[in-house]
Amino acid sequence: MKSEGKHIVILGAGESGVGAALLAQKMGWVVYVSDFGLIKENFKSELNDNLIKWEEGGHNLDVILNADLVVKSPGIPDKAAVIVKIKEKGIRIVSEIEFAGFYNKAKTICITGSNGKTTTTMLTYHILKKAGIKVGLAGNVGFSFAKQVAEDNYDWFVLELSSFQLDDMQEFKADIAILTNITPDHLDRYNYVMQNYVDSKYRIQQNQTQNDWFIYNYDDPIIRAEVEKRTITAQTAPFSLKEEIKLGGFADEKQLTINIKEQFTMSIHDLALKGKHNTQNSLASGIASRILEIRKEVVRESLEDFVNVEHRLEFVAKVNGIEFINDSKATNVNSTWFALESMDKPTVWIVGGVDKGNDYAELMDLVRDKVKAIICLGVDNKKLMETFSGVIPTIVEARSAMEAVAYGYRLAKKDESVLLSPACASFDLFENYEDRGNQFKDAVRAL
Ligand code: ADP
Repeated sequence: MKSEGKHIVILGAGESGVGAALLAQKMGWVVYVSDFGLIKENFKSELNDNLIKWEEGGHNLDVILNADLVVKSPGIPDKAAVIVKIKEKGIRIVSEIEFAGFYNKAKTICITGSNGKTTTTMLTYHILKKAGIKVGLAGNVGFSFAKQVAEDNYDWFVLELSSFQLDDMQEFKADIAILTNITPDHLDRYNYVMQNYVDSKYRIQQNQTQNDWFIYNYDDPIIRAEVEKRTITAQTAPFSLKEEIKLGGFADEKQLTINIKEQFTMSIHDLALKGKHNTQNSLASGIASRILEIRKEVVRESLEDFVNVEHRLEFVAKVNGIEFINDSKATNVNSTWFALESMDKPTVWIVGGVDKGNDYAELMDLVRDKVKAIICLGVDNKKLMETFSGVIPTIVEARSAMEAVAYGYRLAKKDESVLLSPACASFDLFENYEDRGNQFKDAVRAL
């Protein structure tokens, strides 16, 4: 993209905005960064150190509407006044990922889905790193893609992409795209039309050519229906827990098999990540690695020794024979379904928070089967109490992680589990899901 002497405006000075500013500066743009709120001190110094002009606490429209290109942080809604004005003026708006893509020379593995993005991203990154590939990690996981493109150190990138990031993608193309699953989430952003959300997720494979790969979950009915409906140009490599797949991967109760180039097999029991959902994540990452022709021993070792990211079915501690598990990141029913599914001991289940229109009926069979008591951890627990009273004999309410853990310790016996898997957002009682998970872990450790 021609940039010499042209004006670029970056809206939002967080990790991605500052990264975009650094890349733009390097590529010869005249850069101006504008943030409606206050900019964090560390970002201010980074901009100052690089002699990049910035403003905070408002938008100077005279400068902004004079731009040739605008890079917008994914957090700024399309309805924001400044975006409406930029659009009226006909100035092109792109996302940080799209902008970085203009200059990126490395290849990309891009991961999206309703659940499992971070786990699959971190696992894929782990395998590539262990294989000695010069690989960067970026996107939704918190590190700016643009900044790393500016540093130009890598041959490959593993990128986690949310549907919001995908919404702003036009020319961007993934060399390898992974779609883990599609279940209703964030529908409020899509006018409550499921197809809009599905279309957004499918942008992960837009612009792909026959030399590229599309890895997808064959067992997901929504994904399958779309694959049948659409023309997919890339080579496809599905994964399944139900059917044998000739080109792709599958797993049964005992073994995981990947058929890409030569056949790769390993025992399910050796996988570091437990639970069916995680077997799907291991399959997706494994397929991507074998497409890169990473040696089978390296793939096997990496799938064995991966340490999962915090707050995802994370084992916290065993206290008097009671196992405490932190799955605070489970903010929707689907991820909690997989957590309950993977429980192999009678479970005291801590659930609740801000409900995004959950249908708990989907969990009923699993709850009957695995749960012995429920601890509601939210401000408004009415819906949970109504749904499960008469099904589970003991249902109590807690207003803090400390109280919930104390109840858990009292209600569970030796060789049983206490699982925090809320199926809800955390904002009623906690700052965010990390805060909820950390408070839970602190309370367990204080027992
Ligand atoms: P995301 O980045 O998409 O939010 P994470 O990897 O952070 O996904 O996991 C979020 C939650 O979903 C966790 O509770 C985790 O145990 C669960 N989970 C992980 N992978 C999957 C999957 N493939 N299908 C369903 N749930 C999953």
